Amino acid sequence: MRFCQVIVDIAHEDVDRVFTYRIPEGMTVLPGMRVHVPFGHRKRIEGIVIRFEEHCDVPEDRIREIQEPLEDYPVILPQLLDLADYIHRTSFCAMAQALRLLYPAEMRGERITQKKREFAVLTVPEDIRTQVREAQHRAPKRAAILEALEQSEGNEAETALLRSRLGECRQALTALAAMGLIRLEQREILRRPYGEMEALSAADPELTLEQRAVLSQLLPAIDRGEGRFLLYGVTGSGKTEVYIRAVRAVAAQGKTAIVLVPEIALTPQMVSWFRSRFGEDAAVLHSRLSPGERYDEWRRIRRGEVRVVIGARSAIFAPLDRVGLIIVDEEHEQTYQAENTPQYDARDLARRRCEREGATLLLASATPSLRSFALAQRGDLTLLEMPTRVAGRPLPEVRIIDMREELRQGNRSVFSGAMLDGLTRCMEAGKQAILFVNRRGYSTFVSCRSCGYTVQCPHCDISMTYHSSGNVLRCHYCGMEQPVPAECPECGSRYIRYFGTGTQRVEEEVRRRFPGVLALRMDNDTTRGKDAHATILERFRSGEAKILVGTQMIAKGLDFPNVTMVGIVAADAMLKLPDYRSAERAFQLLTQVAGRAGRADTSGEVFLQTYDPEHYAVETASRQDYRAFYEREMHYRRQALYPPFTVIARLVFEADEDERGRREASAAAGEMEAFFEKRLYLKKYLKTMRVLECPVHRIRDKYRWELVVKMVDQPVCREALERLSALAEGDRTGCRSVCQINPQSLL
Ligand code: ADP
Ligand code: ZN
Ligand code: ZN
Repeated sequence: MRFCQVIVDIAHEDVDRVFTYRIPEGMTVLPGMRVHVPFGHRKRIEGIVIRFEEHCDVPEDRIREIQEPLEDYPVILPQLLDLADYIHRTSFCAMAQALRLLYPAEMRGERITQKKREFAVLTVPEDIRTQVREAQHRAPKRAAILEALEQSEGNEAETALLRSRLGECRQALTALAAMGLIRLEQREILRRPYGEMEALSAADPELTLEQRAVLSQLLPAIDRGEGRFLLYGVTGSGKTEVYIRAVRAVAAQGKTAIVLVPEIALTPQMVSWFRSRFGEDAAVLHSRLSPGERYDEWRRIRRGEVRVVIGARSAIFAPLDRVGLIIVDEEHEQTYQAENTPQYDARDLARRRCEREGATLLLASATPSLRSFALAQRGDLTLLEMPTRVAGRPLPEVRIIDMREELRQGNRSVFSGAMLDGLTRCMEAGKQAILFVNRRGYSTFVSCRSCGYTVQCPHCDISMTYHSSGNVLRCHYCGMEQPVPAECPECGSRYIRYFGTGTQRVEEEVRRRFPGVLALRMDNDTTRGKDAHATILERFRSGEAKILVGTQMIAKGLDFPNVTMVGIVAADAMLKLPDYRSAERAFQLLTQVAGRAGRADTSGEVFLQTYDPEHYAVETASRQDYRAFYEREMHYRRQALYPPFTVIARLVFEADEDERGRREASAAAGEMEAFFEKRLYLKKYLKTMRVLECPVHRIRDKYRWELVVKMVDQPVCREALERLSALAEGDRTGCRSVCQINPQSLL
């Protein structure tokens, strides 16, 4: 091969294409390798070789040469080059940006520091060693080194070790190496995250009937290297054990597996379970690793030293060869969708990798996303079910408590009488409790009881949030702070109060009611440090703390056998978000939170407080009736043309002046109208197109307008999405625009 095509590491649409370079005589270059190339008037720049090129039409003298490869192996495997191309085409980002997802950021621009250690290896043949050593009798240090090496295992030793035993010996080592009696080698030492967790290997439990039934479908598919499954298993049904057995089957075939979890810092248990069964064969990738750790773990994977990679969404890019299985745990979680450029959905990429590499896909959840469950109904995914908990443990009983009734009876506290009773009984029995609050902060917002005025941020159209530490109001959008007003700026009333319920307020209430009991709080405010999550969870696990008060963070995957009571202090905030998914998210959250109770031998009790007890998400979640919720919600989505029936494309304009934003959005709408008019097969979507003020109209003094179009999710719509995305790219001073496809937040 004499030519190859290279993507240069510049993320700009003007250079978003391959460039041809000549491979100099005698240089080995492979697709996926990083290389240095000259580019434009820059002498050297990093690039990635995409493919060879047999014939090149460009005149010989105009083609430049590759300078050198950066590594002697391809950093990007061929199947991952394919994945980058897929991201490039579907998320409208430059190929260079897509490629950057596939190797550690630390490698770019050579910012990495490799940890290396020097070893001395004896090279003298065994039969003449004594002779050689005696010949060095005038240089006792050299003789001592030779002797030490003769006696050590493998006839080698780290030079640092030799120095610590024999004193400074650099000169002697250099001399011996020069004489050819020893060899000095630099060897890489890989940093290992979770080093302290190498720990205990655990024995296999006997599988339950349901686990066995699920595996009897899964394992044959894994053997054949095919299949796409959705495992719908209630909380506590033992899904993790299914993962472990499936991964083991894959490893037995000499293949590898990826296990994706929503956020690894919140699922230390999953890591420890895998570590206890797979030891060194398991690698962990996540955002809280230090750059050095991440780079080393990446290389361990790239070299084929691990069998299974556990990680958050970016672990889908793990450079594993021979992938046989990809598991997506808690597949309904939004964290699988990356919002920043390049936008991608790890679940889609998992499916793509499985298809491309002949692997089995396993999505799993106690509350599957509507999209996945709909695919299962259509037969596109094979549904596997585990409807009961391990060891016949009952699902917790959920009591809905109508807070309007409590108010009528004069109870203004954050706890209903029933929840307080439950908590008291739980503490008296020596068990533990989890109290879930859907917001952080002491109280959510401040409002006037006389006239209803609420304090808004002066720069954003959003209520400010009260924080008792510092006694200030803060805007969660722009960070602006101000003191709490003593009287209502509207009507002068002094009855201006905190409303809503935050984690701090609940924690204080618990302290007041249960003075001798240690309660811990877990929310954004208390988990800023590197190990803060793990520390709080450990203090709770050990039984030191009896009550854990927390936000969304405590809803996920935690398994505490001693927790018998769960209190959902206020279910309402999540039902009221101006977003078509609020009911789905509320159902998922309520079910997951309730699922934290009664996971061992004592049955669990859940108290759900709400001002809207008839809401179908509350009602179905309290019965853990996923199917009833699914039917109801799908009906609504179909009527209102929401996903999974459609794709929502949204173009947001943020302008200095309100009128400007509206004008830009309308202009874009005009362009789209012309576009749709010209295409009969897309024309019907015209009537779904709207120009509106965004639900949060102003953020940081920018006025926000949106153009929204809903289309049935079909390949022909790609063209329209591309057009929208191109409109977002247009140059506008004083007005910024972004294109979002099925965005996580519609605010
Ligand atoms: P899920 O992820 O489905 O909510 P887990 O995987 O956390 O459930 O399992 C719930 C509990 O049941 C865990 O404590 C786990 O160790 C235990 N468990 C799982 N499978 C078995 C089994 N076959 N025998 C005994 N205990 C099991
Ligand atoms: Zn007022
Ligand atoms: Zn603000």
